[in-house]
Parts: sequence; structure tokens; C-alpha cells
Amino acid sequence: MERLGEPAWRGRQLAEALYRQRVTDLDEITTLPKTLRKRLKDEGWRVSLPQISQVFRSSDRTERYLVACQEDITVETVWMPEGDDGEDGGESEDEAQEPSGGTPRRWDRATICVSSQVGCAVGCRFCLTARLGLQRNLTAGEIAGQVLAVFARQGVEVGRDRVNLVFMGMGEPLLNYDNFMAAVRLLVEEVGLSPRRMTVSTSGIVPGMERFAQEPAEVRPKLAISLNAPGDALRDELMPINRKWPIAAVMDAVKQMKLRKGERVTFEYVLLGGVTDRPEDARAVARLARKAGLPVKVNLIAWNPGPGIEYRTPQPEAVEAFRAALAAAGVPVYLRRPRGRDIYAACGQLKRTVSG
Ligand code: SAH
Ligand code: SF4
Repeated sequence: MERLGEPAWRGRQLAEALYRQRVTDLDEITTLPKTLRKRLKDEGWRVSLPQISQVFRSSDRTERYLVACQEDITVETVWMPEGDDGEDGGESEDEAQEPSGGTPRRWDRATICVSSQVGCAVGCRFCLTARLGLQRNLTAGEIAGQVLAVFARQGVEVGRDRVNLVFMGMGEPLLNYDNFMAAVRLLVEEVGLSPRRMTVSTSGIVPGMERFAQEPAEVRPKLAISLNAPGDALRDELMPINRKWPIAAVMDAVKQMKLRKGERVTFEYVLLGGVTDRPEDARAVARLARKAGLPVKVNLIAWNPGPGIEYRTPQPEAVEAFRAALAAAGVPVYLRRPRGRDIYAACGQLKRTVSG
């Protein structure tokens, strides 16, 4: 607005209209004078949300969306009514803020999984998104816009509905750091969401984690690390990024986090049948968790299959034994429920698959 020669408070009015009222057209911004709206239009400005161009609906009510960022570029966003028992499970730190009463809903809480890049450059062997390579970074508007597009579709009301955001869709958020954090600030400061209801997952990009640890608590989401292996030898193989930043370097970066009261850092651990789900692996993960030097929890994810990826989903007994071993070692552990596997919406399956 200042650039257009308008007073700065016009910018505030614009932000209110875009992010609180969620207008979809410049003409709906009645706080701005007509002449200014016309001028904005004449100069080529428009208001729009990323368009949900395709919807895949799972038998478990998860929805996977292809969201169009520009004509030929789509990313994926996932809506999970009732969450997946991962990032929204087991923490009661902010329960007091729950809205009470209100109208009954089709869901009590929901989780939205948001993409940060088109594709991913990190190349983890077990992940379908890796097959795309990195096509481009998303802008802050495209990252925050996914959330608003889903809010519009689901009728989410900020302040009434309990929604968690996980930045765990396509891409490595900490390799698109500035746009990712700018999106978080839009969602916190303009839309009014709490960063305590947001979790960002990283494959362990150490410089990004060091910057992240310095972010002020008011705008910092919770952190999850994709550990995925009991030690460096196996992690080197499964996640080539480990050769650059091995487990010890990731752990040092984790220690720099100044956690809020009740907050824990999550270690995600994908169980690959016969590869990372052995009893000795569970013991090694428990040791790493206890050594972390700050409150952590482990989220176990049974590997979700994808075409052309030669791993196996773990046996249910192996998953349970792994969980029990961590619990017995005193490590808080949760099992992430696979959501939307039938529509390729589950962890590691986001590759703009059009069938299913
Ligand atoms: N790039 C970030 C965030 C997106 S991936 C990261 O890797 O952390 C979100 C989670 O899905 C990660 O923990 C990843 O290890 C896991 N994942 C990837 N492929 C998977 C698969 N096929 N089955 C289950 N989990 C998978
Ligand atoms: Fe990228 Fe995460 Fe998939 Fe690894 S697991 S390839 S970092 S999206």
C-alpha cells in the first residue's frame, strides 16, 4: 500500500480482508474506497486462493487434494478429520484453549498436511515424493493458501474449530526456509492460528534447524525430525542427506531448541519391514531418544507402499513389539495411523498420483 502511495494502515485493512474475512474478490473489500479497488484492479492485482483442482476421498474420510499453484503445477494437500494420532495425540498442553459448547461438527478435530515444495530434492529411498525431484519452491502465499483453500472447502472457522497443521506434505520445508517461515507468520499473525498447533517435519537440514531454533516462540511451530534409522550406517543408505548431516550433527542442532512448557521434539521413525523394525533397532532408537537431552517423543509410521519402491510394510507384531520396547524404555511413543492409503494420501505417498 505504501508503494502505491497509500497510508500503511490501508495495508492492515487489506490483510484483515484477505486473511480474516477471507474475501475472494477485490470488490468484496469494502473497507477500501472504490477508487482504490479500481486502481488495484487496473494495475493487475487480484485476489485468489489456490484452486483445488482434484479431490480424492478415502474410505476413512481423508481427502487428498491436488492444489493448482499455477496452470501446470499442482501440489498435494491432505485433510484428515480426527487426525492421525501423531502430532495431535497425547499432548494436553493447550487443552484449556478449547472452545466449549458450539454446534456439533462432522469432526471434532482435524489435521491438514501442507506441502512446502513441488517435489523434493532430498531423495530418501522409501519416499514416493523423492521420485519427482525438486521442481520448484512454493511461495509463502502458496503454502498458506493451501490451508485457506482447505478451510474454505471444509467450512473451518478459526477460533471455533480445532485444526492442527503439519508441514509434512511434499518437499523439505527447511530447504525453502524463508518462504516456509513467511507462510507460518501469515498463518499465525494474520489468520490467527496457534504455532503450538503446527508441526514442521525435517529430514535433518542442520543449518535450517539452527535458524529455526532462533525463531521467537510466538511464531515457531513444533519440530519433528525424520530419524528413520537406528544409526548412521543404515541412515546413510536410506536417507543420503545423512552423509552431509549425520545423526550426531542433527542431535546437536536439536539441543539448541528452546522448548515451550510441555513441548516435545518428535522423532519420526518409518518402520520398513525387515530393515528398520528389528528389536535391536528399537533399543538403539530408545538410546538416541534418552540421550537427546531434552523432552522428545517418537512417532512410529508403518511404511506406506508406493509403486516401484522395493520395501515392505512391517508385520503388525513387529510394529507392536517396537512400540512396546520404546515404551518399556520410558520413551513416549505414538503410532501414526495411516490415513488415506487407498487414495495415495498417506505419508510418503504424495506424488500427484491421479488414479486411486
Ligand atoms: N521432507 C520432510 C517432510 C515430509 S515427509 C521430512 O522428510 O521430514 C513426512 C514424513 O513421512 C517423514 O517423516 C518421512 O520419513 C515419512 N515418509 C516418507 N515416505 C514414507 C512412506 N513411504 N511411508 C511412511 N512414511 C514415509
Ligand atoms: Fe523429501 Fe521428506 Fe520424502 Fe525425504 S521423506 S524425499 S525429505 S519429502
